[in-house]
Amino acid sequence: MIIILLGPPGAGKGTIANEIRKKIEIPVVSPGDVLRSAIQEGTGLGKEVQKYVNAGKLVPDDLVVKITEERIRQKEYQQGFMFDGFPRTIQQGHALESLNQRLEKRLDQVFYFQASYETIAERLSSRRVCSQCGAIHNLNYNPPRIADRCDVCGGKLVQRDDDQEETIKKRLEVYNNETLPLVDYYYEQKILTRIDANRDVEYRFKDTWERLMELNLLKGNL
Ligand code: ADP
Ligand code: ZN
Repeated sequence: MIIILLGPPGAGKGTIANEIRKKIEIPVVSPGDVLRSAIQEGTGLGKEVQKYVNAGKLVPDDLVVKITEERIRQKEYQQGFMFDGFPRTIQQGHALESLNQRLEKRLDQVFYFQASYETIAERLSSRRVCSQCGAIHNLNYNPPRIADRCDVCGGKLVQRDDDQEETIKKRLEVYNNETLPLVDYYYEQKILTRIDANRDVEYRFKDTWERLMELNLLKGNL
């Protein structure tokens, strides 16, 4: 299956992706993760995209599409995958459509995680990520057992540069202008499922999982 997890930053797309992966083996395609590690490693790509990411702006479409195409052509992705953070513009949506056509793949469903501004701001400012393994913690919802240390690997927990308050505002503005139009786009294609993302993760996950069952998308994966 190929599904998209769509929604504002802080809606908990990454958390849901992790919950799904506890149940079935399916890779995640997240340009944000690729870009962040490129920045950390200081590669050519990293240097090119740093200024966008740190300012909370979108990286140019052609670059992101290229990264994504490279990923989904790899062997591990041939049985299906989830997009987290792609597409983020209508143009990327179009690019995905033509890519799918070329690769003879089909997008099965788009899960739209809808959350209020209060929810988003609160989640992002209390989010901490592991600098070693990338696991996501939240100081309010799943605080680490040992302060500042990752529960999974013991790595140091840090706040992402772009989770600072000013950048959060910018990212939400970008989201509303650039990404939100994709909700209508997929709604019109009749492949959109709306999930109330203001609720706790167990409910968000339950709704998502039940919908995947209903759509028969878990066949062969369980
Ligand atoms: P979040 O979902 O919390 O905003 P991501 O890891 O998805 O975090 O993205 C972090 C940053 O990476 C974005 O603010 C943007 O600069 C860049 N980025 C990620 N995905 C895309 C995309 N599909 N198109 C353009 N830029 C992207
Ligand atoms: Zn860790």
